[in-house]
Amino acid sequence: MRREDFPILNKQVHGRALVYLDNAATTQKPQVVMDAIIEAYSHWNANVHRGVHHLSQVATQNHEEARKKVAKLIHAQSEEEIIFTKGTTDSINMLARSFGDAMVKEGDEIIVSQLEHHSNIVPWQMLCERKKAVMKVIPLREDLSLDIEAFKGILNKKTRLVSVAHVSNVLGIVNPIKEIVKLAHEKGIAVCVDGAQSVPHLAVDVQKLDCDFLVFSAHKMYGPTGLGVLYGKKKWLDKLPPAEGGGEMIEHVSFEKTTYNVLPYKFEAGTPNYVGSYAFGKAIDYMQEIGLENIASYENDLAKYLEQQLSTLPNIHVYATNQPKAGAVSFNAYREDGTLIHPFDVGVLLDRQGVAVRTGHHCAEPLIDHLQVPGTVRASVAMYNTKEDIDTFITALKKAIMMFL
Ligand code: PMP
Repeated sequence: MRREDFPILNKQVHGRALVYLDNAATTQKPQVVMDAIIEAYSHWNANVHRGVHHLSQVATQNHEEARKKVAKLIHAQSEEEIIFTKGTTDSINMLARSFGDAMVKEGDEIIVSQLEHHSNIVPWQMLCERKKAVMKVIPLREDLSLDIEAFKGILNKKTRLVSVAHVSNVLGIVNPIKEIVKLAHEKGIAVCVDGAQSVPHLAVDVQKLDCDFLVFSAHKMYGPTGLGVLYGKKKWLDKLPPAEGGGEMIEHVSFEKTTYNVLPYKFEAGTPNYVGSYAFGKAIDYMQEIGLENIASYENDLAKYLEQQLSTLPNIHVYATNQPKAGAVSFNAYREDGTLIHPFDVGVLLDRQGVAVRTGHHCAEPLIDHLQVPGTVRASVAMYNTKEDIDTFITALKKAIMMFL
């Protein structure tokens, strides 16, 4: 799938052709995205929203066009529901501050799950400390899927918010978000979906999911770093207070009283990353040209092939097999005597053969503790990966394991 659009994929690493399978951490960028950044700084760089001059108007228009593209991508009702942030982490921190200030009081409960990324744990923990609220955790079943029966049991009238990953960044499992939202809404509870690993791989429709909030990062979907999105239903964003103060987010400021700007600017304090948003718009165009459904089905085939190939190897344990998955596969390798080969060692030996994977806790320590291992090796695919990449990876992995047997 248009591999030639990604110049970095022609690189050699340690004298070998690069096989990049660390896409869940960040994706590579197509030339159009890189060109957009050069174009912005070369032709129309100026601060947005405040200027009457030509460049500022072009910059503003480009930034706002990008917002419309994001709204369309996730099927938001309007671009007012799209807040640009620095990334998923920033989006969740903003929400925890804003929602937390307005909605959470002592004794209230926030629900997350056992498989969350630290970004979807720590901001809520900090909120719970600030407000003397309580964090509840959806446990996992033996097959590592979310225990929905247990979830029903912990939802109660003290629950203020449920915040869950759509797709696990470690296991690649697609969680039953629609069902989670339905169960929470039956009790009048809001749901935030961490879409960092789903928006890049699935056609996500916030109206179909009916989630109250969705957060994701541009850099994991062929866009630039330093940019992310906090989507919120208008009814929530209207009612919630801003998380940060400064320029852009105000209507009038005086020492007596400050009034806030309209949506979405109320939540965007300071100069926004308008070059990033423009480049992200180009990444979205690029994905849509290929087709979100086409990307999803291509990657799904690839991830299945990856899981199958891994499962045929002796001494490899693949986590959460035969589950709905998107993008990532985690595994561990063992010696003949059953002792674990440290994932870090596997990663280093793969790197020596030009294969980039991620090893460790993947910023999900509670999940790794649950698996009772020091970490996993994670291979994750993007639209530019091929079956040949997977074959090269498997050959390299066999060689790496041989060194430990
Ligand atoms: N949530 C999930 C599920 C993730 O995979 C990641 C990135 N690994 C994050 C949150 C944090 O994203 P970012 O570092 O772009 O803020």
